[in-house]
Amino acid sequence: MTETVFSLSSGKGKAGIAVIRISGPLAGTALLALAGALPPLRQATLMTLRRPGSDVILDRALVLLFARDRSFTGEPVAELHVHGGPAVVRSVLGALAEVPGLRMAVPGEFTRQALGNGRIDLGQVEALADLIDAETERQRMQALSGLAGMLGAAVRDWRSLLLEAKAMVAADIDFSDEGDVADQGLRGIDSLLQRLESGLEGALRTADRGRMLVDGFRVAIIGPPNAGKSTLLNALARRDVAIVSEHAGTTRDVLEVKLDIDGYAVILADTAGLRETSDPVERMGIERARTSASKADLVLLLDDGESEPPDADSLTAPSIRVRTKIDRKAAGPLHDISCRIHLSAHTGEGLDSLTEQILLAIREGDRGEPSLLVHERQRQGVERALAAVQGAQREAVRGVEFLDHHLQRADDALKEVIGLIGVEEVLGAVFSRFCIGK
Ligand code: GDP
Repeated sequence: MTETVFSLSSGKGKAGIAVIRISGPLAGTALLALAGALPPLRQATLMTLRRPGSDVILDRALVLLFARDRSFTGEPVAELHVHGGPAVVRSVLGALAEVPGLRMAVPGEFTRQALGNGRIDLGQVEALADLIDAETERQRMQALSGLAGMLGAAVRDWRSLLLEAKAMVAADIDFSDEGDVADQGLRGIDSLLQRLESGLEGALRTADRGRMLVDGFRVAIIGPPNAGKSTLLNALARRDVAIVSEHAGTTRDVLEVKLDIDGYAVILADTAGLRETSDPVERMGIERARTSASKADLVLLLDDGESEPPDADSLTAPSIRVRTKIDRKAAGPLHDISCRIHLSAHTGEGLDSLTEQILLAIREGDRGEPSLLVHERQRQGVERALAAVQGAQREAVRGVEFLDHHLQRADDALKEVIGLIGVEEVLGAVFSRFCIGK
């Protein structure tokens, strides 16, 4: 039987209102113990809360009660909207702890109840965590479409195609001695599998975009030592994040800042200057710089006109060549045609053009349908399903009877994506993103 749990669901600290949530079969009992009566369902009601079994008043609060079938968790839920002072919250939580059968919720436990009761699927749990973490407009919009259950709906469609294919396999085996019927069956299964394959491939094509919108568009700043990488990062972040020094080799690790560019989350990474060195720590930094460049969605190749600029050919990501320090006289030509952007992080000249170019690169990758797949776990599940479907397509030539276990593997992979099976293995990782009260 589900336990009844409670916790502060709004943020910590002083506020006008704090929301304490109670979820589980004893939610009503808890309200009776504190408020002496139950409010009408789903109607905000002003009630006096007292310590159970005493006259000590804790607060006057707005109280809400939701029945199991109309609540977020799928359990009876009570919400206490109390005054948002730490002492009020502490005293109400203390009083709830005195009610027999109630305990404090662990992080993510309300969402876990919702998942366990089938109110939401695993894709929606992840979208909920994304929504709570969302800091930019695009992150919020992507998370909201995930929360609406887009992925769950697509998985249901794919699974119904699989079910049809399985039914055809079963029928086909029954009619296997009637040549014509068997041939027709095979063709039917073939077209179903093709539809399934293109659906799964379509979803996978949007996975990179989903990852980019939710986790952030990764921009790596690469260049020789002293090219002005750390100064550029600070100028774009509008604060001192990286240490700027005229001593080459100051940045040894990869330093990341998150920016919001026109509603998009952007992760800007400053890296160690690329040069030959015998210093083992600096060499590790340079290795990390290369890794950062290989994971980036866009690389800024910095050139201050003095040292040999890095080579763009070895990069996998698209790159923009940036001429830095245009406010001073340099050894090389000032307006180098191989550089798309010319800027000075000191005077700010050219920074807007760079931001514009970054935005263009982001928009380039953010076209088309909203992404179904956002997280690596989801992408891998759909990839496994696709591999199984393609396995079935290959086996179909040998005969229908060989298809069943491929179809089953595809179905299992899809069930895992939305958490119908294998939930326990991934729950730890998924719920590690939740805090208490969610
Ligand atoms: P990094 O090693 O590539 O990260 O380079 P830094 O950002 O540490 O800069 C190296 C040196 O170049 C420092 O002395 C900076 O003050 C200087 N510098 C960086 N950007 C500019 C700029 O736009 N104009 C001028 N005049 N100097 C700059």
